Amino acid sequence: MSQIIIYDTTLRDGSQTEGVSYTVNDKVKITAKLDELGVHYIEGGWPGSNPKDKDFFAMMKGKKLKNAKLAAFGSTRRANIKPEEDTNLNELIASETPTVTIFGKSWDLHVKDVLKTTLDENCAMISDSITFLKKHKREVFYDAEHFFDGYKNNPSYALKTLLAAQKAKADCIILCDTNGGTLPDEITAIAKEVRKKIKTQLGIHTHNDQGLAVANSLAAIKSGCVQVQGTFNGLGERCGNADLCTIMAILHTKLKMKSIPDSKIKLLMDASYYISEVSNYNLTSNHPFVGHSAFAHKGGVHIDAMLKNPMAYEHIKPELVGNHRRLLTSELAGKMPIILKAQKMNINIDKNSPIAKEIMKELQEKEYQGYQFEGADASFELFMKRRLKLYEPFYYLEGFKVYTERRLDGSVGAGATVRLKVNGHDEMAAVEGNGPVEVLDRALRTALLRTYPSLNDIHLSDYKVRVLDTKAGTGARVRVLIESHDQHDSWTTVGVHDNVIEASWEALVDSIEYKLLKEKK
Ligand SMILES: [Zn+2]
Repeated sequence: MSQIIIYDTTLRDGSQTEGVSYTVNDKVKITAKLDELGVHYIEGGWPGSNPKDKDFFAMMKGKKLKNAKLAAFGSTRRANIKPEEDTNLNELIASETPTVTIFGKSWDLHVKDVLKTTLDENCAMISDSITFLKKHKREVFYDAEHFFDGYKNNPSYALKTLLAAQKAKADCIILCDTNGGTLPDEITAIAKEVRKKIKTQLGIHTHNDQGLAVANSLAAIKSGCVQVQGTFNGLGERCGNADLCTIMAILHTKLKMKSIPDSKIKLLMDASYYISEVSNYNLTSNHPFVGHSAFAHKGGVHIDAMLKNPMAYEHIKPELVGNHRRLLTSELAGKMPIILKAQKMNINIDKNSPIAKEIMKELQEKEYQGYQFEGADASFELFMKRRLKLYEPFYYLEGFKVYTERRLDGSVGAGATVRLKVNGHDEMAAVEGNGPVEVLDRALRTALLRTYPSLNDIHLSDYKVRVLDTKAGTGARVRVLIESHDQHDSWTTVGVHDNVIEASWEALVDSIEYKLLKEKK
């Protein structure tokens, strides 16, 4: 079984993503997560290019990593100077990382038009810089930038640059498809040629401009590259880098190759969402392997088949990568999801029983009114439990009132009063604040806190309103989705009404009921 070295550059190449900007603290957090996952190398940044990356390496000096080696990134020396005089190379040494990765030019077009130096001087820049870093006892990886474009244009020169890196004793030479324009069969052919002529270990670094970064990385691995560079979730400038998450999942589940420890592969989904959270970058739900929808089934026929044999519509067991199967609830899905949810709640409903039929009809009616339970599992569970009378309501609403006001000075405020009956006694709360939903939420929780102190732990993390009938303008029906979380969980609830406050109330009530029900279990 071959072992593939995972080199993560989320913190360097990934930080080039439009809209992503890491603080030093974000970088420390992501480093810890990647280290825990067991990736072999974490490229922390380019100390010669910005002070934030320099701060990060300074901060990491005192920290010990459990699994990964930290790498600092930079370029070869500038033309016509000694490596000792190059500030960029000196910054790399000052970072005190065990590994240093430098990039240099393999494409003659870049040497002539961008660096504006001679082809020979470029080769000297590569070998001098590597020799200098090796003299300082660093493990040195050499990124051959634009290697595939360079090879297509001038193969003998592109190879000459690699030979310069090899002669200077680079520990690994990484072939880069920097512009992301190469096709998998070209990668295979070129990597195999290089493999014949270069003895040094080879790696691959691809970009996703054609949606082929993962395919290209795999082609290179199959052609003899043992290191793969990429980012989590495929972050990176333009269309991003190769997605390490997908690559690792494929290596383990399909190619029977090793990368991070087998036991860590099931943490991929968790790591992926964690990193997208810290990066403040939304992971699309159809993301391969780790997205929320990656194993979500909607069609009734599919779901029926899935129940007979899960492999009918799944290419792997979702648990292998830490994901799980979801059977979506909708008109399309037939009765199966209802039956399955019921099974999860330890109730057996016969798919042909009258109650299953009734619930199905009510659900279709609700969907017709504008409810969407696909994004609101918690409301669905409550709907079922209410319908099957599986719990006593925790309180009864006597009434609520919400106002918003705009004052003479132009400031805007809101207030809410909520009256409830809890365990036979009356509770009332009145609060003031900024917005109508916020005050309604706080008033409801304040009225309940004396009886249910755990409601203090709930936070609303997302609030979405969608207008369902755009033609009717402000008279239209709205659907509100609320995402709430406590220390352990997050859950989503839904409300639908012509009145946005009532729709919000409904979703808030579900959120609180769900939390209380969860606690009772
Ligand atoms: Zn890159």
